[in-house]
Amino acid sequence: MSVTAKILKLFRADQQIRGLRGRLDAAERFLSVQAQQLGEIEKKHGALSAMLKQLKATVAGDEGEAKRIDARIDALREQMNAARTNKEYTAFLNELNLLKAQKDEIEKNELASMEKVEAVEKQVAEVQGQKAEREKIVAQARADRDARAAEIKDRLDELTGQRSELVKDVPAEQLRIYDELVRRLGDQAVSNVEVLDRRNHEWTCGSCQMALPVEKINGISAGRFTRCSACGCILFTEVDVVAKTVKTPREPKAKKQAAGQS
Ligand SMILES: [Zn+2]
Repeated sequence: MSVTAKILKLFRADQQIRGLRGRLDAAERFLSVQAQQLGEIEKKHGALSAMLKQLKATVAGDEGEAKRIDARIDALREQMNAARTNKEYTAFLNELNLLKAQKDEIEKNELASMEKVEAVEKQVAEVQGQKAEREKIVAQARADRDARAAEIKDRLDELTGQRSELVKDVPAEQLRIYDELVRRLGDQAVSNVEVLDRRNHEWTCGSCQMALPVEKINGISAGRFTRCSACGCILFTEVDVVAKTVKTPREPKAKKQAAGQS
């Protein structure tokens, strides 16, 4: 088996490995995005809950203060009833009016706080709904990711095992070139020769579409390690294509042209 054929086997194993990992990577990325969005919703939920707690504490504080003032007002009324002088009565009345004004102010604040509580409670409920929805999506995404990982595990192990065997067969220098090309070109690292017009000796690199001279085709046909001069990829032809392409250059030029014109 030629070096090119060995590299082609390795390349096809690598393509399958990349394909399998690619599907897993997509599931992983989706899960990560969803989990991040859930994190943001949880943060918002936490902030709103803290705000709600604080508002409720403010309302409770106002309620306590209003009750304290009520008790003081009741006591004052009793004192007013028992007042012995007009001056005493007036003093109590002034204090009573002051307390009533204070109570009004507190009740006004309390009402405003309660309105805020209601608004924030609504927001909390809304965010809670979003959170529950997103939690479902994250759980599904995690299950999909796990299922995909389990699905490909055996095949991936098998391919990885095959790969380490295939690598042993490729000479070090060609393997170095191959690895570098895969890093740089990915799926374009190894490419077949495309036959545009066999009779007119027109072949192109399947990776970059640049024309390939007949010498390259002959080299590939003879099993030599051949690269595209334009993009650098390793070139191959499938066996049947090689058989046909090698015959063509041997045909007499005049005959070939005549055939092309007919
Ligand atoms: Zn090329």
